[in-house]
Amino acid sequence: MIKEISIKTSRRNELIDITQQVQDFVSASKLNEGICLIFVPHTTAAVTINENADPDVKKDLLQKLSQLIPEVDNYSHSEGNSDAHVKSSLVGCSIAVPFKESKLLLGTWQGILFCEFDGPRQRKAVLSLVQGLSR
Ligand code: ZN
Repeated sequence: MIKEISIKTSRRNELIDITQQVQDFVSASKLNEGICLIFVPHTTAAVTINENADPDVKKDLLQKLSQLIPEVDNYSHSEGNSDAHVKSSLVGCSIAVPFKESKLLLGTWQGILFCEFDGPRQRKAVLSLVQGLSR
């Protein structure tokens, strides 16, 4: 089972909580247990899991990434978005989350965050479900 979701970003660097969209997809599947893969088909965006309760965590993540990987540096790529490419590779383009009884097994404070590093843009994420083996 595969679904593509659309994500509209509004800033150059932004973390967007997509947990509810992923949970809705898992719920609609009626599958009891398995793994939900979240894949981002972009070279200047990424996906990660982190705290979604205190918005300052998202702010700190973006701020620290930008300190480590500045927008302007001695880059070769002529498009001018090398920082976004580096951030994308460091954070990664996919995560897998197990689910049981059609519920994502995220920790209390965990949320699934789409990471925009070269926005604003219209983006997408691919969700794919793998059913767990039943005994
Ligand atoms: Zn580029």
